[in-house]
Amino acid sequence: MSIKEKSGKVEELFKSLEVEISHLKKETGVHCIENCIYCCTTSKIMATSLEFYPLAYHLYKTGQAELVLEKIHNSEKLDSCPLLNSVSIDGSRIGCTQYENRGMICRLFTYNYSTDKHGLRKISACKAMKLAQPDEIRKTNEILKEKTIGPRASGYYSQLQTIDFIEGQNLYPIREAITMAIENVLTYYHYKGNEIE
Ligand code: SF4
Ligand code: SF4
Repeated sequence: MSIKEKSGKVEELFKSLEVEISHLKKETGVHCIENCIYCCTTSKIMATSLEFYPLAYHLYKTGQAELVLEKIHNSEKLDSCPLLNSVSIDGSRIGCTQYENRGMICRLFTYNYSTDKHGLRKISACKAMKLAQPDEIRKTNEILKEKTIGPRASGYYSQLQTIDFIEGQNLYPIREAITMAIENVLTYYHYKGNEIE
């Protein structure tokens, strides 16, 4: 499968994920806290390289792939995601610099449910949301007792594996996952004579 096709399939998956997430938000009222970037500043985030193919393909098409790769290599804040803008000296927006093409884990963080050992569905809300939106979280868990709402993270990762079993399965610290995706795309097009599909 070409990089373009692979990237397109991941984007399709993101589209259905976003539909489920907006349904969850609309029906329950859960939402990210304004200007919160906590989940982008933890070194514990793990991701697959495949979920960053849409980003890598976009960067390649727009001639930014090498530049972003260099920035990642030079970034000193090793605990944070290298795509995060955490300071705004020049008035730039604080947050993800590649929001439109962020990975699947970034979309799923807090907006997904899991099932406990008794089969009870619960929203996997982050600490910040649990503290700030207890009523919304309670309401979501009540709804989840009766029916499914929002995405199930494991289900989406299984779907990712149907696109590429290995690249959709192996988890790496997010910095490595992003780097691998960009490097893979650059290598692919290098051997194709840098011809953009
Ligand atoms: S998911 Fe939680 S930690 Fe991450 S930005 Fe939203 S509120 Fe903040
Ligand atoms: S890609 Fe963007 S949303 Fe995802 S962890 Fe990095 S900065 Fe945050």
